[in-house]
Amino acid sequence: MTYDLVIIGGGPAGVAAGVYASRKKLKTLFITENFEGQSSVSEGIENWIGTVKISGADLAKSLENHLKAYAGDIVDIKTGVRASNVRKDGSEFITTLSNYSGEKQEYRSKSVLVATGSTRRKLEAIGADTFEHKGLTYCATCDGPIFAGQDVVVVGGGNAAFESAAQLAAYCNTVTILNRSNTFRADPVTVEKVSAKENVTVITNAVVTEVTGSKFVTGLSYKDANTNEVKNLPVTGIFVEIGLIPNTSFVKDVVELDAYGKILVDPKTQQTKTPGIWAAGDCTDGLYHQNNIAAGDAVKALEDIYVTLSTK
Ligand SMILES: Cc1cc2nc3c(=O)[nH]c(=O)nc-3n(C[C@H](O)[C@H](O)[C@H](O)COP(=O)(O)OP(=O)(O)OC[C@H]3O[C@@H](n4cnc5c(N)ncnc54)[C@H](O)[C@@H]3O)c2cc1C
Repeated sequence: MTYDLVIIGGGPAGVAAGVYASRKKLKTLFITENFEGQSSVSEGIENWIGTVKISGADLAKSLENHLKAYAGDIVDIKTGVRASNVRKDGSEFITTLSNYSGEKQEYRSKSVLVATGSTRRKLEAIGADTFEHKGLTYCATCDGPIFAGQDVVVVGGGNAAFESAAQLAAYCNTVTILNRSNTFRADPVTVEKVSAKENVTVITNAVVTEVTGSKFVTGLSYKDANTNEVKNLPVTGIFVEIGLIPNTSFVKDVVELDAYGKILVDPKTQQTKTPGIWAAGDCTDGLYHQNNIAAGDAVKALEDIYVTLSTK
């Protein structure tokens, strides 16, 4: 069969698109590895409009429930699978899915919406791979409490880094934020609030060069970018928050990406440069990345997909 639409991704963008696809009666295949959007690790989300506060895990569950409540026989949901390729076939598209055992399936559709978000950028320093999950982690909310009473470092200068530091400061002995430049991507209010905490120190122009330890992390070295002097910090926890990489490699041959791998879209419609493929949320070159924006972008895309398919 040929689906009207294939939606790839189960974060706020994908789910919003799925709900709208169902309401518009577009026969849809919804593919996602899971319903855990990036903020599912957050303790409390306070800006999901209409909800005063919700944990990331509860938001993810409520998104899944919302889609399942309206999917009916219009939206077929496949979870636990990855889209590994999308290719053009005449005016239609073939999406290849791979499961964890490596089995592949192919699905045909008239249109595709890519809503695959992003994943965390890895720290490039000697020993970073060796000590991952042995003191070096990419999720303060998940692993922070293990480091209660200890000295830890947060690497990064964006909101995620400062928010992680704020959280860690509540129960760690000391928290040192290492930022590789002397400017911060985080909101000035957040920088000010977190830096003012008694047990938080912020070091700028600090480029992490090595993670050290035996079985677990015992410290790290960083280079002062101004003086080239290498300094050591004795810490037992390292939390890396240095940005995100868009999950777009599987569509690189079928849509245009920018230098960072983000899908180029027309912000009025979310259309990519390939007719028949739309994209929404953090995988696009949209300037701002938030749950509400991801959901809104996807709704915009669905309106446009509906108009496009029904006027073909
Ligand atoms: C720690 C943290 C806290 C945050 N807190 C907030 C906050 O408080 N408020 C706010 O508005 N925003 C917050 N954000 C930002 C927000 O989470 C993102 O902007 C939002 O999740 C983007 O949604 P998305 O649907 O585009 O992508 P994502 O949430 O990244 O979801 C992508 C989905 O696609 C799936 N997927 C990926 N690749 C494939 C594939 N090849 N095949 C199948 N499925 C795939 C993933 O499993 C996932 O389900 C936070 C982000 C982080 C990292």
